[in-house]
Amino acid sequence: MNVLPTPLALPGWSHTYSGKVRDLYVPEGTDAATSPYLLVVASNRVSAFDFVLEPPIPGKGALLTALSNWWFSRIPLANHLAIGEGSPAVPEAVADRAVVSRRLEMYPVECVVRGALTGSGFVEYQQTGAVCGIELPAGLNDGDQLEEPIYTPAYKAPFGEHDENITFERSAELVGQDVAEALRDASLKIFTEARDLAAERGVVLADTKFEFGKDPVTGELVLADEVLTSDSSRYWDASTYFDETLSGAERLASFDKQIVRNWLAANWDKQGVPPVLPAEIVEQTYARYRELYVRLTGEEPAFAPSAQ
Ligand code: ATP
Ligand code: MG
Repeated sequence: MNVLPTPLALPGWSHTYSGKVRDLYVPEGTDAATSPYLLVVASNRVSAFDFVLEPPIPGKGALLTALSNWWFSRIPLANHLAIGEGSPAVPEAVADRAVVSRRLEMYPVECVVRGALTGSGFVEYQQTGAVCGIELPAGLNDGDQLEEPIYTPAYKAPFGEHDENITFERSAELVGQDVAEALRDASLKIFTEARDLAAERGVVLADTKFEFGKDPVTGELVLADEVLTSDSSRYWDASTYFDETLSGAERLASFDKQIVRNWLAANWDKQGVPPVLPAEIVEQTYARYRELYVRLTGEEPAFAPSAQ
């Protein structure tokens, strides 16, 4: 991975961590291990093939934040958003693309659910006939929908390392049997409901990843991170997915970074640092993120693309 840009200075907040796409802050004077709150800022950075690309996609952070918040409001499960009494406000400078959340003790398990077989799941299936220990019928092709969604957890590797697919049993060793079952059951339930809702709107939710944490005070299981965004999920357009006349790659063009990935595949030999994205690729990528938001929510985004 390449070097991340210097995080924005936000008055009243101290920067504690940056992933490829998001920057985390805690209220000034508190520390990352004990602070009750966490500010999760979605940048406009876009990553592909493990590189953060240049330039950022203006408006992407706001679209993903709005989509995640929209899903949170529809999921009948405790979530990490800290709204109201006592909780600090989102700073003006990142108003559209940040949330204040309760800081949780995160479980080191990425709760992946797959309704279709593709990506790393398909690779594992080709090698072993199973994904994360779940045996699947022979003869499945890349992108095939599964009879029932499957829960295929991954161990959340420390920063910079690759996450590793694990079995349910291994997840139970990591977090305990009861929590592992609760993570699995909640993940499958949320996925199934979200998949059905997306389908009504002409979108195939192929797979997604949830993260959960424990409230350090109450011990409650809480849905955290971002939910069902195009960065954490693979969405396909139903009109192309079900079009048998198209090639596999066209059918399975994901509803987000496919434009970036295709352009890079054609313009970069994967040696050294990736080239700078041309303006039309930036625009098309934003349009694609925006289209997903409009399709799913049925609303135009309430903000303009911003350069932040
Ligand atoms: P990658 O760039 O591969 O996604 P990453 O997951 O480390 O790496 P981010 O997703 O940008 O990077 O970082 C968000 C981090 O914040 C994750 O480690 C996530 O587990 C953590 N997190 C999300 N919500 C909460 C919360 N409510 N309390 C504590 N930590 C949280
Ligand atoms: Mg992450």
